[in-house]
Amino acid sequence: MPELNYWCELAWLPPGEAVKGVLVTVTDSMISDVVPGVAEPPAGAVRLAGLTLPGLANTHSHAFHRALRGVTQREKGSFWTWREQMYTLAATLDPDSYLALARAVYAEMALAGITCVGEFHYLHHAPGGRPYDDPNVMGHALVRAAREAGLRIALLDTCYLTGGIGTPLTGVQQRFGDGDAERWAMRAEALLAAYRHEKDVEIGVAVHSVRAVPAEQMPVIGRFSAHHAVPAHAHVSEQRGENSACVETYTATPVEVLCEHDILGPRSTAVHATHLSDVDIALLGQSGTHVCMCPTTERDLADGVGPARKLRDAGSPITLGTDSHAVIDLFEEARAVELNERLVSEQRGHWTAAELLCAATADGHSSLGFADAGMLVPGAWADLVSVRLDSVRTAGASAHDLAETVVFAASAADVHSVVSGGRRIVEDGRHVLGDVGAMLGEAIAAVRGEGA
Ligand SMILES: [Zn+2]
Repeated sequence: MPELNYWCELAWLPPGEAVKGVLVTVTDSMISDVVPGVAEPPAGAVRLAGLTLPGLANTHSHAFHRALRGVTQREKGSFWTWREQMYTLAATLDPDSYLALARAVYAEMALAGITCVGEFHYLHHAPGGRPYDDPNVMGHALVRAAREAGLRIALLDTCYLTGGIGTPLTGVQQRFGDGDAERWAMRAEALLAAYRHEKDVEIGVAVHSVRAVPAEQMPVIGRFSAHHAVPAHAHVSEQRGENSACVETYTATPVEVLCEHDILGPRSTAVHATHLSDVDIALLGQSGTHVCMCPTTERDLADGVGPARKLRDAGSPITLGTDSHAVIDLFEEARAVELNERLVSEQRGHWTAAELLCAATADGHSSLGFADAGMLVPGAWADLVSVRLDSVRTAGASAHDLAETVVFAASAADVHSVVSGGRRIVEDGRHVLGDVGAMLGEAIAAVRGEGA
């Protein structure tokens, strides 16, 4: 088996400390050995400067939203006006244009140190809701895009049945729907079967939201997740309007509805969890449900600030997602979790840098069904993300505040090397696919109908 040695100037090792001179041996796609205290790189070892972290997990992505960056910043509005702009874009995508766009977006993620993405995928069908000849062709395009960009993917096949509680799908929403949960499950079963033996792909499931899946259909999705032991994600209480419509129909909050219909648990992730009651927090925490915070999207869409610290204290592991890709930078997401709590509480120091790195790495991977990733230990996936400590943002860090410097001051641009599943996909800040900016520009112009 091919074996490769990486010598890290500094590496982030369990239980959460930066250690000098760490030799990481990679066999195929996995770490086979980790030896600290190696003063100099041995002959033949690849030298990784700066601080080397485990691979970052982006637990919530809608790849096509990347084409909205900038466009949606021109006018006033709300989540709901933003959603109309998103729908206009969704109407234009086909399997080829989605492949090109997603490949470029995932390459942008790779440059930011992300080695695993959770793609919350609901753009299943052709315009009008007609299934493609292969009804999973859009999902296959996303898997191929991730592989070509060098990422692992948890493709979260999303059930999306109604346009709002009690209202049918209209317009572009018809592309999202399978009719009912049983037909959704048949399509998802076929997708799962296609990747059953592929260890770099996890097929998970998702309830789009209480807006889009009637409560009585949710247990089908919960059973699918339990039966196949795969992740189940759901958008939860992103907007107050969603909460009030839910309470009006079900006399229960979205978290209560998901709990009563078998969606919560350690394999599950509540995305956003912004507007929660104390009972909601207890239900999520006691069930061990992960919570995915997407602070840069939540602030972009004027959603609000979720109670991340209370959720963690109640028992929910916190993870991070770039969601609409207003920016793709997990350091920015990580520090925003702490900085948002400061603004709300007028107190500092809710989260340590080490806790936030855990959210970006080990806890993120566990939410995506890759429990054997996100730590630099033997037996884990060989994902090594090296961050410069000599850039204008990070220079001057002392040995005692390396994690704090990276979490609170570094940007995605400080990632200079990425090894993903044993493969070097970023070297000297360049992705193996070449000019990712040009790829993004071309793919986005194509889907916006602007030509290349
Ligand atoms: Zn989302």
